[in-house]
Amino acid sequence: MARTAVPGRLGDRLPWRAATLTERRSETRGASTLVLEVPGWPGHLAGQHVDVRLTAADGYSTQRSYSIASAPGAEQVELTVQRVTDGEVSPYLVDVFCAGDAVELRGPVGGWFVWRPEQTEPVLLVAGGSGLVPLMAMVRARRAVGGRSPFRLIYSVRTPEDRLYQDELRHTDPGLDVEYVYTRTAPEGSRRPPGRLRAEDLVASGWPPDLEPTVYVCGPTGFVECVADQLVGLGHAPGLVRTERFGPSGG
Ligand SMILES: Cc1cc2nc3c(=O)[nH]c(=O)nc-3n(C[C@H](O)[C@H](O)[C@H](O)COP(=O)(O)OP(=O)(O)OC[C@H]3O[C@@H](n4cnc5c(N)ncnc54)[C@H](O)[C@@H]3O)c2cc1C
Repeated sequence: MARTAVPGRLGDRLPWRAATLTERRSETRGASTLVLEVPGWPGHLAGQHVDVRLTAADGYSTQRSYSIASAPGAEQVELTVQRVTDGEVSPYLVDVFCAGDAVELRGPVGGWFVWRPEQTEPVLLVAGGSGLVPLMAMVRARRAVGGRSPFRLIYSVRTPEDRLYQDELRHTDPGLDVEYVYTRTAPEGSRRPPGRLRAEDLVASGWPPDLEPTVYVCGPTGFVECVADQLVGLGHAPGLVRTERFGPSGG
């Protein structure tokens, strides 16, 4: 299966940059978008992530990885963080981190799980939960350049209230189809009962393998592995299935 190119190793050689939070925007009851001013930011590609380092007054420091949500070229760097219950860092970033607060960023990291505007083939994006974040950067990057390559997004999420970027995705861009798969509660009148994403969903809302789409799958490790297996089982070439796992990333 195609995987992200050793991001941690590459990231280790990048410098830490001071960043300041300019805005914290609530996306859902469990997720916030952090808008960061990063002097000297070198720019990024859609799909890349950063390492975020927090240091307490007593010198204790910890870091986590977060995907970049904003399109390349945007003046500020946006991250969207989903609260992990009992987590050390995400509850702080989602609920406490305030405009004016400082943090350090290292990146951008990753050269494989990226979409570039010069790509013209059909694209299938498959997101589980907060795995939508780097895929949204791809949607935004396509919009920013007026891209024409056809995009389909399948977004698996627990309930309608948990959908990230609801308003933005409601007004979809030309050539972008969005399909939701609800795992716990579906809106009234939904054709599909709630349940985990299945191969039939990928057939119904994805691209046929003979069109040779590039597929980007992102979310919790179990979700990504399951979807990647289903895609290959349906006949998608493993080399065209790019994956990003949102497992624990502390260090
Ligand atoms: C490349 C990469 C990009 C990422 N991008 C994003 C992003 O854009 N948005 C985002 O919200 N998160 C993202 N993550 C996950 C993020 O790095 C943290 O793992 C997450 O925020 C939890 O950190 P924490 O300190 O709150 O939890 P921790 O204190 O590290 O962990 C607490 C408990 O939760 C479990 N846990 C840790 N991480 C997760 C998780 N992701 N899902 C479920 N359980 C978990 C741990 O095993 C532990 O039991 C990304 C991870 C990677 C590797």
